[in-house]
Amino acid sequence: MANSDFLDQLRAIVGDEYVIDHREDLLVYEYDGSVDRSMPRAVVLPANTDEVSRVMALAYEAGITVVGRGSGTGLSGGAITPPDGLQVAFPRMNQILEVDSVNRTALVEPGVINLDLDNYVRKFGMRYAPDPSSQRACSLGGNIAENAGGPHCLAYGATTNHVIGMEVVLEDGEVVYLGGQAREATGYDLRGAFVGSEGTFGIATSILVRLLPTPESVRTFLGIFPDIDSACTAVSAVIGYGIVPAALEMIDALSIKAVQNVTDAGYPNDAGAVLLIELEGLHEEVEEVTRDVESALWDTGAADVRIAEDDAERERLWVGRKTAFGAFGTIAPNYYLVDGVVPRTQLTQMLRKVSEVSERYGITIANVFHAGDGNLHPCMLFDAREPGVMESAMAAAAELMQECAALGGTLSGEHGIGLEKKEFMPLVYEDEDMAAMQRVREAFAPQNRLNPGKIFPDGSYYRPSPHPASHTAALYA
Ligand SMILES: Cc1cc2nc3c(=O)[nH]c(=O)nc-3n(C[C@H](O)[C@H](O)[C@H](O)COP(=O)(O)OP(=O)(O)OC[C@H]3O[C@@H](n4cnc5c(N)ncnc54)[C@H](O)[C@@H]3O)c2cc1C
Repeated sequence: MANSDFLDQLRAIVGDEYVIDHREDLLVYEYDGSVDRSMPRAVVLPANTDEVSRVMALAYEAGITVVGRGSGTGLSGGAITPPDGLQVAFPRMNQILEVDSVNRTALVEPGVINLDLDNYVRKFGMRYAPDPSSQRACSLGGNIAENAGGPHCLAYGATTNHVIGMEVVLEDGEVVYLGGQAREATGYDLRGAFVGSEGTFGIATSILVRLLPTPESVRTFLGIFPDIDSACTAVSAVIGYGIVPAALEMIDALSIKAVQNVTDAGYPNDAGAVLLIELEGLHEEVEEVTRDVESALWDTGAADVRIAEDDAERERLWVGRKTAFGAFGTIAPNYYLVDGVVPRTQLTQMLRKVSEVSERYGITIANVFHAGDGNLHPCMLFDAREPGVMESAMAAAAELMQECAALGGTLSGEHGIGLEKKEFMPLVYEDEDMAAMQRVREAFAPQNRLNPGKIFPDGSYYRPSPHPASHTAALYA
């Protein structure tokens, strides 16, 4: 089918103004939060499931690949669309369709912004627990595709623990429902398979999520440490006391500097690292565990332990944590964030490796991360206009991925594999494991028309030159 015929038929489905195909207009759709870039042939903005289904059927018939796009905050290149592919985005499907206070569920469209859902249901005394640091911008559709995590996922689990079911359009336009309509479902957990499938199984058009009651009591601690080693020891000590905090985040000295450049979060400028710890539960329970948290922090060398006195102070501490990545702009114009996981007990070892790699490559690396989960986010700060610096950052990242795998960890805590980390999959999976995963994908998308070229190693990227694949290839040679 000629491109012009394809576009005409798309316009007939969604309306003229909801098909974007001018080069200038497509510029904002050629990237996400990662380093890859590719301009799709067109972007379509459907208004409902029926339109999504007809768009998918049309693309399927025309042999055109389709990539879903939420808010484009993904950090692994998931929404990057091949040049001949069609991007389907959801700014028009952004309604909270229903909130059921009795059963504590909400039915939402995929374009709903994570924080908008949480703010809305708080009016009913409930909350949506998964809270990615990008929650002001990222969408529920993107969250389920990446199985997003967040600071409060330490106690409550990642997105998959909060999704009950969803309506999905398959690659040929068929509409199916995965999971339950109530809080429990029987049979194969196809819902669980879909969450985290990075847009390769289908396009979610509505999502039924689980809500939690807002806790009776919340207490937020700032543990201030002279160095990162003692802060790492404190992380293990807190968990060692048998405490599962709602959140346990680490912010290193460089990140503190960046945050304090843009907002006064109350982090001391001379700290080597701070831990942001939150307890939630019944008043008595929180009161009792408070003593254990304080002991764990003092015993491991805290220079000071502060407790937020009111909601405003608590909010300030969290704003600092959640704006850290943006604040890195005050230190360098570009950043590249590595998402790796190690067992909590290996945090000290891993952060020493980060510091060694930083020195050897001459790249500044800041660390702000979900310490309780052992989920690191070494963030390389650089100026991409400097020749060779991007290649060095990629090579340094590859070393960090290798170290995570060697320490018994894995490649991603929450950002997904996408384009960014697919060549590292052999570090943690045998060929047979990956073949088995691809057979599962074939059950959902036999023609592999949805988000192809992601997750599994195939050597392809959409990276502005210089192409870093040479580093990756060298690592596996
Ligand atoms: C500053 C910053 C902080 C971040 N912090 C966190 C964090 O704490 N935790 C975390 O987990 N992530 C974090 N992220 C990463 C990112 O925000 C998450 O991966 C988020 O889930 C992506 O949502 P999105 O709407 O932007 O999706 P996009 O980037 O648009 O897309 C992500 C993937 O979802 C697929 N997709 C989108 N919509 C649909 C749909 N309806 N159906 C099927 N597939 C779909 C896309 O094809 C793509 O593969 C952060 C990112 C930034 C920039």
